[in-house]
Amino acid sequence: MTQRYGHWVAGESIDPACGTWLTSHEPGTDTVVCEIAEGGAADVDLAVGAAAGAAAEWRERKPIDRGRLLMVLSHALRDNAEQLGDLENREAGKPVFMGPAEIGGAADYFEFYAGLVNREAGEVLDLGPGFHSYTRREPFGVIGIITPWNAPMNQAARAAAPALAAGNTVVVKPSEETSATTLELARLTKEVGFPDGVFNVITGTGPAAGQPIVEHPSVRKVAFTGSLRAGREVGRIAGERIIPVTLELGGKSANIVFDDADIPAAVQGSLRAFVLNTGQICSSGTRLFVHRDIHDAFVDALVAATEHAVPFVGRLTTEAQYDKVNEYFAIAEQEGAITATGGRMADGWTPEVTVYTAVDNGMRIAREEIFGPVLSVMSFTDEDEAVTLANDSDFGLAAGLWTRDISRAHRVAARLEAGQVFVNTWGTGIETPFGGYKQSGIGREKGIEALHHYTQLKSVTVAL
Ligand code: NAD
Repeated sequence: MTQRYGHWVAGESIDPACGTWLTSHEPGTDTVVCEIAEGGAADVDLAVGAAAGAAAEWRERKPIDRGRLLMVLSHALRDNAEQLGDLENREAGKPVFMGPAEIGGAADYFEFYAGLVNREAGEVLDLGPGFHSYTRREPFGVIGIITPWNAPMNQAARAAAPALAAGNTVVVKPSEETSATTLELARLTKEVGFPDGVFNVITGTGPAAGQPIVEHPSVRKVAFTGSLRAGREVGRIAGERIIPVTLELGGKSANIVFDDADIPAAVQGSLRAFVLNTGQICSSGTRLFVHRDIHDAFVDALVAATEHAVPFVGRLTTEAQYDKVNEYFAIAEQEGAITATGGRMADGWTPEVTVYTAVDNGMRIAREEIFGPVLSVMSFTDEDEAVTLANDSDFGLAAGLWTRDISRAHRVAARLEAGQVFVNTWGTGIETPFGGYKQSGIGREKGIEALHHYTQLKSVTVAL
């Protein structure tokens, strides 16, 4: 029998107010994974009400007690990593190793913030004799969290863990394409002893279930991860309501290989940078700039290495994404790029790992986010040109560079317009702040920094 998930509100599963259910499938197949509740404004109102009702008790709980619950949740996630990972793989079409790895990543978030519950302690300000002045960092209350389909559990945890640690309660709206693991996360919060109403989930489409969260008067901050298009809409509503918003949007990240780099390491790292999770990662390194003296040999080595990319590649998660990647295969041809390898769907919704050369940074395949394992390769002659080309993008999520020259590494890292820069590697852990420059977003997730975004600052001044 098909698994059916209701919304998760006040510690229990509830049926949708409208009485209708949406079906989620294994990508590219007719196999049903589960049914989810089709949410609307009435369901959102219930969930936000539950979160608002639980807020006072949760924020007044001793921080160390909140932290202990986050830690127990982290253990529960690890204990269930295989089963939850399998569920996420089925719903999102991820390569086999990714699901359990992502559940482990979600566990990391709860573990990390469990130990930081009273980190946001404020500071004492010296106003001279006669006054004692200090700052406090206080929770907002109810946080709305809206996530996309490419890493559902990980992104729910990325925002929920610091939000809960800081004393907020949450209403999460996962993508209608991949809601199952977020609902399992909700079930686990109950199992490990979170108070009812602290963690709520409403499922459904963006306009019907996401937008009412952003608009709800009791939601005091929104953490949105997704497309630039929807991010603009969420940001507009948040602007009208004068509430803070974190926007984690798309990318077209530059990866620069200098001629003094460790070439085998750069080949492996550059490959991983654009193929992991079938290229459906916001921070993928999809524009590769190679010094002209090593360009041809590097491309040959990279194309040869694509043979070993199989474990990183699964299926495109949604039909829209399948259509989009196909469309960009056609655009690349129209734009005159040379297909060094790939360029079509391999099987069902699995695309071939694709490398285009003879790309100009003005082409659409170099400017627009494709969200598939598709790389645009360009060459450069010197450091200035590499930086200029890398920064010539509307996005600025991540950037990478490969060099053995330590001075150049720091010099170029400082000049790149991106929220995170990787030197001689690609990617980092949950401990480093993550977010975008330019149209890749506003605000930061991950690291201690994220706690600032889930608290508001108050100053208190006492005449002595
Ligand atoms: P999307 O914007 O279509 O959907 C994201 C979420 O927003 C979903 O839950 C959706 O239902 C909801 N939504 C859509 N319209 C809405 C509206 N008007 N109001 C409120 N909610 C709405 O994005 P997607 O296609 O699911 O995800 C892919 C995009 O996400 C890519 O652009 C990718 O780069 C980006 N992304 C960014 C990060 C990051 O951390 N920067 C991480 C992962 C994905």
